[in-house]
Amino acid sequence: MLDPTPAQERLLRSYAGAARRAHNWALDQVRQNLSTRSAERAAGISEDQLSGSLSWSAYSLSRLWNEVKETEAPWWREVSMHAFRSGIRDAAAGLANFSDSKLGIRAGKPVGFPRFKSRNRSTPSVSFVEINHQLSWLSPSRHAVRLMLPRSPSDPTIRRRRDQLAWIHTTTSTRRLYNLVASGRARIQKVTISYRGGRWQAAYSVRYLAGLPARRAIARSARLGGTVGVDVGLVHLATLDQSVPGLTDEAGHIANPRILENQLERPAKLNRASSRTKQGSKNRAKLRRRRARLLGRIATTRALYLHHLTNALVDRFDAVAIEDLNLTGMGNKKGHLGRSVADASLGELRRQLAYKCSERGATLVVVDRFYPSSKTCSQCADRGVEAVRAKLPLSSRVFECGRCAMSLDRDVNAARNIAREGARLLAERAKEHDVAGLRPETQNADLRSRQTGRAQSPPAAAA
Ligand SMILES: [Zn+2]
Repeated sequence: MLDPTPAQERLLRSYAGAARRAHNWALDQVRQNLSTRSAERAAGISEDQLSGSLSWSAYSLSRLWNEVKETEAPWWREVSMHAFRSGIRDAAAGLANFSDSKLGIRAGKPVGFPRFKSRNRSTPSVSFVEINHQLSWLSPSRHAVRLMLPRSPSDPTIRRRRDQLAWIHTTTSTRRLYNLVASGRARIQKVTISYRGGRWQAAYSVRYLAGLPARRAIARSARLGGTVGVDVGLVHLATLDQSVPGLTDEAGHIANPRILENQLERPAKLNRASSRTKQGSKNRAKLRRRRARLLGRIATTRALYLHHLTNALVDRFDAVAIEDLNLTGMGNKKGHLGRSVADASLGELRRQLAYKCSERGATLVVVDRFYPSSKTCSQCADRGVEAVRAKLPLSSRVFECGRCAMSLDRDVNAARNIAREGARLLAERAKEHDVAGLRPETQNADLRSRQTGRAQSPPAAAA
């Protein structure tokens, strides 16, 4: 998370604008070239007489840009070359995906022609690639809360910008990354600066060179092993399927930090204030920006506390089961806000677990979102019977089973179901691979359940 000065922020915005300009210019060149050639073809001109086809590589598009930048962007000297390169690189990557998809060598959904970026609707972002001077990215002080943007030495305006865009304050420590890079265990491939959730953020793409960091040593008595299920909601930061001393309360809940409780009350107020303003008015736009910033702050606060949780989970258990992101938007009808906060938390939880699990040799299991974790009775399911309730209003905090008369906190019930389903998936996967025991270090970090063929028998333990 960056904390730029107003002058630095203006520069970052102009960098992002320059990246967008070059990105759109490159796409436009390619589109014009394609349409010229297809018009010529339609007019019956033979293939060897067509206008030359344009190379889509970042290298040749950059060369072309250098020839025209004086007319296309007369202000180019005011911005680092890195910014234009960033936009052209993005355009070239999008074009490569598009052509790979057309040729059928790209897996997944078909990819269309890359979209042009709009000033208002796209996320301002710019990325920097610098491979030679790795440590120039980061402040030499290990307690650094600063970041450095690279400067091109051949740039004539360097002296003017030097004072403005040297070090940018970060609100989080870069110490871990600095240590990894300084000791030669990792290399930074790319730094992307973007404006999300009302704040500027820096994201580093890192390649690990040597072996991954070993599992952190924790007291043997603290290790529990087996699979843990995690449910993310609004009322609690998270809920586990079991109680873990020093981490959860007796039921398995991890409470929201108080600072978050205070933050969570405010978006509703902003929503109400916003509904009193006129559509399209300046006041409404202002409130919308304030709301975005607040939601960003809530997400950051949660992310901060989730690190404590994910460290504890990865160190204590062999496998961690979570739910897939609710991309369809089903289930939570309480309002846009609660859902976006909970979904952002789940996304962040998954991101942290994915890299921590693969670093420290645990397994992350993602349970399909079609699995009705909050509507299934965990006690009946433990006995091998499927008892699913058709509807469970969000307001009722307790799950009551009509079959076995169990009454349990709804989040704990959901976490237990997630744990059982996760363990079942792991067992199924182990069987598929025909290995006697699970070897967590070779497990894929992103194991998904299938929609069909759910076994009816109770799962084998994955411990
Ligand atoms: Zn039941």
